[in-house]
Amino acid sequence: MFLTFGEQIAHWMKNPQELYLKPFHVIENVYYVGNYWVSSYLLDTKEGLILINATMSQTANLLIDSIKSLGFDPGKIRRLLITHAHYDHCGGAKAIHDLSGCEIWLGKHDEFYLTESRYMMMFEDTVPEFKVTNFYDYSSVIDCGDIQIKPLHCPGHTPGTTSFFFDVKHKGKVLTCAHHGGIGASFLARDVMARSGIPISMRDTYLMSIENVRDIHVDVVLPSYPARFSGYDFFGASESDDGSGDGFIDSEAWGRTLDAKRDELLAMMLKEEGF
Ligand SMILES: [Zn+2]
Repeated sequence: MFLTFGEQIAHWMKNPQELYLKPFHVIENVYYVGNYWVSSYLLDTKEGLILINATMSQTANLLIDSIKSLGFDPGKIRRLLITHAHYDHCGGAKAIHDLSGCEIWLGKHDEFYLTESRYMMMFEDTVPEFKVTNFYDYSSVIDCGDIQIKPLHCPGHTPGTTSFFFDVKHKGKVLTCAHHGGIGASFLARDVMARSGIPISMRDTYLMSIENVRDIHVDVVLPSYPARFSGYDFFGASESDDGSGDGFIDSEAWGRTLDAKRDELLAMMLKEEGF
């Protein structure tokens, strides 16, 4: 039976266990604790545990179990960094905060999703209320002791989409890891934009954002939706990696991914014009 995207998500919300994925080590102190659909990364730093995104509210228990099964205490999460305020990244924020009392970080330009819902956020009613404690300062780093996380504003997918860059020391070399905070272009289809009140200029913003970060050197890409990620086979790498993390190193993947997304939007725009 063919399910639309919305129907598929609604199905998973009722059957979150179908999204279960065994958590795994990525590289150095970075772990994958997300599910089959949407990612969440745990960083074990000198300043405590950092969680990047909290998945959907319905999968928060899977996330918490994944953190525990790697031997970490989710009650000790110090900071939750949210890339953008869509239901599938911040739905689990309240559950994580209830357990840990952690700081919750968000891009200032996405705050209105939580206070006004000015633009339609699909499934917004599934996000339990939570309080943002910190907004990203794009001119400085988030100091986590041995890891310095550099947040970069990458508006387009949402106005406040934020990406993260940080270095890890791996076998005597410094490697840059990056997580793009929101790169899906489907929200930028003309009919979706009209329905949700997103200004058409957001497309230019999206393309400019890609341009701004396209040439940053990245060794390890941490995808948002690993199963749909075109940069490289992230789940495949987790199976074939020897435990060192070498399997996740691909310094071309970042550029490849961003180019593909830019081309996807440009093709969609041409199609709308009847080409
Ligand atoms: Zn999103």
